[in-house]
Amino acid sequence: MITLVGLLIFACVTPYAIFRFYAGDWVVGTVDLVIVLSAIGAVFYSWRTGDTVKSGQFLALIFCIGAVIVCISLDINGLVWIYPLLVFIFFLVSATRAVIFSSLLLLALALIDLLWPTIIFANRFQMTSFLVTAFMSSFFAYVFAYRTQRQRFELKKLASIDSLTGAGNRHTLNQELEQAVLLKRKLDRRFAIILFDLDFFKQINDGYGHKVGDQTLIQLVPIISGMIRQTDQVFRYGGEEFLVLLREIEPQHLLALAEKIRLGVEQKLRLPDGKAVTLSAGIAVLQDNEDWEQWLHRADMALYQAKNNGRNQVIAAA
Ligand code: GH3
Ligand code: MG
Ligand code: MG
Repeated sequence: MITLVGLLIFACVTPYAIFRFYAGDWVVGTVDLVIVLSAIGAVFYSWRTGDTVKSGQFLALIFCIGAVIVCISLDINGLVWIYPLLVFIFFLVSATRAVIFSSLLLLALALIDLLWPTIIFANRFQMTSFLVTAFMSSFFAYVFAYRTQRQRFELKKLASIDSLTGAGNRHTLNQELEQAVLLKRKLDRRFAIILFDLDFFKQINDGYGHKVGDQTLIQLVPIISGMIRQTDQVFRYGGEEFLVLLREIEPQHLLALAEKIRLGVEQKLRLPDGKAVTLSAGIAVLQDNEDWEQWLHRADMALYQAKNNGRNQVIAAA
């Protein structure tokens, strides 16, 4: 977005800057030139640092100050630039910040008119009309920006969770495991996983129906979440297989926690006729110089062993 704004400013304002200098209007020419150079600078800064927030705030500030100077110099011819600017600001900064910038800009113009009448507006009626229409433009831009922001947030949430159970999905799991490996290498943080699979789930589907199978999966997630810390996460690995990612856990406490989860599920997760649902789990502490695929593979091997040993148990990975 910053690059797009930069290109747009460069294409639209540069001819004006050249024209103003050519016409001998040094004030507006200089303001236009500063705006163009700031836009170019902000684009380069955001490309180099990846920080688009600061660039956006810097541009919004420069544009607002520039707009006030242009309005003083060109009165009504400057004022017409305020309308696109009031929309533009919402592309540069967050909706709340854009409202603050817009309000300050309109307030500055009104204040200048109160202190030095006719320097910008021909009369008070013109000022009032301008403020009302500018406020309306800003208001609609805010509503649009706010809705877009919320939709983006919802989309991000939907893309990261499993739609049936609300647990994190496989995509988010891969990202979190990669991140965990990175934190282990750089900061020596401790991580562990519990990979578990419900026992005889096919029989549950066959005996009680797919709907009950789905309900069982839905009920499982809050039971697990209730037994782990807020910073730990539950993911649906696939089908009736889930993964719990634990942060800063002592290796000696891992087995006890996994056992607590296994027992908790056995006691709380019930089928319509009251029968218990059990799980088998493989646990693995993240080792030095291990990538996430190796880590997961160790947990998977342990889970496989738990199934082979007769199910409803936890096995620690080698
Ligand atoms: P095991 O104890 O060895 O794990 O036996 P199992 O029957 O649980 O294992 P298996 O992997 O053979 O069966 C898993 C079943 O889970 C098969 C599949 O139809 C079912 N399943 C996968 N996803 C869903 C889902 O979203 N809803 C329902 N109801 N069933 C699902
Ligand atoms: Mg199973
Ligand atoms: Mg399975």
